[in-house]
Amino acid sequence: VTTLSEADQALVAGVLAGQRRALAKSITLIESTREDHQLRAQQVLNALLPKTGNAIRIGISGVPGAGKSTFIEALGMWLIKQGHKLAVLAVDPSSSVSGGSILGDKTRMEQLSMREEAFIRPSPSSGSLGGVAEKTREAMLLCEASGYDVIIVETVGVGQSETTVAGMVDMFCLLQLPNAGDDLQAIKKGIVEIADLVIINKADIDPRAAAVTAAQWKNALGMLRPSSPNWQPPVIALSALHHDGIEKFWEAIEKYRTALVPTGEFAERRRHQAQAWMWSLIDSGLRRAFHANPTVLANLPGIKQAVADARQTPTSAARQLLSAFTNPKVGTTLA
Ligand code: GDP
Repeated sequence: VTTLSEADQALVAGVLAGQRRALAKSITLIESTREDHQLRAQQVLNALLPKTGNAIRIGISGVPGAGKSTFIEALGMWLIKQGHKLAVLAVDPSSSVSGGSILGDKTRMEQLSMREEAFIRPSPSSGSLGGVAEKTREAMLLCEASGYDVIIVETVGVGQSETTVAGMVDMFCLLQLPNAGDDLQAIKKGIVEIADLVIINKADIDPRAAAVTAAQWKNALGMLRPSSPNWQPPVIALSALHHDGIEKFWEAIEKYRTALVPTGEFAERRRHQAQAWMWSLIDSGLRRAFHANPTVLANLPGIKQAVADARQTPTSAARQLLSAFTNPKVGTTLA
């Protein structure tokens, strides 16, 4: 049972009515680290939850310069013409270091950011990848409740952030440049396995090179066991700059939905993601609680030293600390 304040009821109503200000304000609330804000944010989210889930969630990843913002702008302008409303969110764990987001930046999507039908929000700068991802997931739900039917989550093609974004979207797309050898990079990183679609961008520069790269990708993808029995990830060469191939991309998205929704796979992926999200929050919550536990804190230095000096096995040390955590009545000093 939620006890929303009048102000938060107005916020919920504003989000549901599609008011940008209310949406932006509610995202700011979920991004706040203040405990009272967090409590309110969760109440607001719970109130909106029944109105979420109606968008298609698309992840777009690629190295800086691959053309992500050019592509998203082209796609966004095209989607608006088709009557869609889209939200562009970003997952950029480096933003807290650089002091500002390099992704989802409004200046990078000039036309799109001026459109009423598009909502662009830079990456939250809450530090760890897990923290950033959590806020983005919640922002995604808020956007859905506010009537955006296409959600784009943009990320850079580096390490963990791609896997994290793949874990929060319906379809994960890799944006690649047309040069041979790039595919090997992705295979090495294990990224090919999580791709539901591959885009070869900048096909206008050298169409032949783009075709060769596309063929290499098809080959690489064909060697893998597809993650879904109903879907073989397609490879699409296009030019974001010339808005050429955007339609082909969207056709693939529609095809994906048509292939996975009737079999229940689409919904199953979301259910699985929601549960994985819950477990990851439990994991991080437990870790935080463990490190804040007075008995653990009092005993940790000594036990750490004992393990370092090989006076105690890591197993018995871990057991001792965990039992101090789960059963704090043991006392402040462990035997
Ligand atoms: P991001 O860092 O991945 O967001 O890449 P940008 O969208 O900022 O693009 C990097 C550069 O590549 C810009 O100068 C774009 O104009 C250019 N670019 C993007 N897409 C294309 C394309 O399809 N063809 C050509 N020739 N240039 C492109």
